[in-house]
Amino acid sequence: MDTGIVVKHTGINYIVQLTDSNVRLNCTLRGKLRLNDDKTTNPVAVGDIVDVEIGANSNSGIILNVHPRKNYIIRKPANLSKQAHIVAANIDKAFLVVSLILPETKLEFIDRFLLTTAAYHIDTTIIINKIDLYESDVLQSQLAEFEDIYNKAGYEIIKISATENINIDKLRELMKDKVCVFLGNSGVGKSTLINCVDNTQNARTGKISEAHKLGIHTTTFYEMFNLNFGGYIIDTPGLKGFGLIDEFESEELYHFFPEIFNFAKNCKYNPCTHTHEPQCAVQLAVENGDIAVSRYNNYLKILNADNNKYRY
Ligand code: GDP
Ligand code: ZN
Repeated sequence: MDTGIVVKHTGINYIVQLTDSNVRLNCTLRGKLRLNDDKTTNPVAVGDIVDVEIGANSNSGIILNVHPRKNYIIRKPANLSKQAHIVAANIDKAFLVVSLILPETKLEFIDRFLLTTAAYHIDTTIIINKIDLYESDVLQSQLAEFEDIYNKAGYEIIKISATENINIDKLRELMKDKVCVFLGNSGVGKSTLINCVDNTQNARTGKISEAHKLGIHTTTFYEMFNLNFGGYIIDTPGLKGFGLIDEFESEELYHFFPEIFNFAKNCKYNPCTHTHEPQCAVQLAVENGDIAVSRYNNYLKILNADNNKYRY
């Protein structure tokens, strides 16, 4: 029996790269694995670590079982169906790419993404891209304010220009030998960045955006690509947002806002929703400027929305 990582799902088969060699096998699933739990449409996803039995012709194999996932992201169902699709599993690092302009990434969008990656225990770095464009005083002070908000929240921030090649080497260091995913609103520069860190990725992102323009659906299957300096990048074409599969209780929401979670240890009441309770350390920290008002307001907005179900 061998172990490998699922690098591609073609709909029928799974391509598995063996751990101890560069060999790739075209695999099917052992019958038992096809029996699914009812929450997801796919029992095996890109990024899964699997045990395989190598077939007679040595290019093929059978996936025997899936190792427990350390995390995963799902695509929210397009219809009312409860079944979600696992986009990728075992992600070491998510990069949330944002821009202050052209296009602007809204803080609420950022906080919802950060909530999701925190709930999935995915280490997340914020990339502020297009810093070559932020020359004006207004944008410089917006940039400083942005950094202040997310520094206080405890997130690592890296300022980059993909077109001017600023801090790309730092980004490469953060990605090296990890399974990485790039997320963010359309137009912030995700594909440009990926090509910039590893120019061997060029051909395929070109192909994908061409297909997008022609309206060809490239969204169904996900794939992981080797980075030429070590590690993998998970391609998530067309992934605009993702949701949570096991909704947590509203009392737990603050666990996924790291700075709120930190201050909450000193609240007088337990449980505390940090909305109205007296001697609430979180409300005090907001008043003192130790927690950004925008973060707190988005916490309240999410707390009060969606009937306490954090699907979006
Ligand atoms: P995606 O939708 O997130 O993949 O964004 P793209 O990579 O397609 O980039 C959208 C546009 O932003 C393209 O016209 C890029 O040339 C441009 N762009 C990407 N990065 C930068 C940057 O650092 N500075 C500037 N000025 N433009 C950028
Ligand atoms: Zn409190």
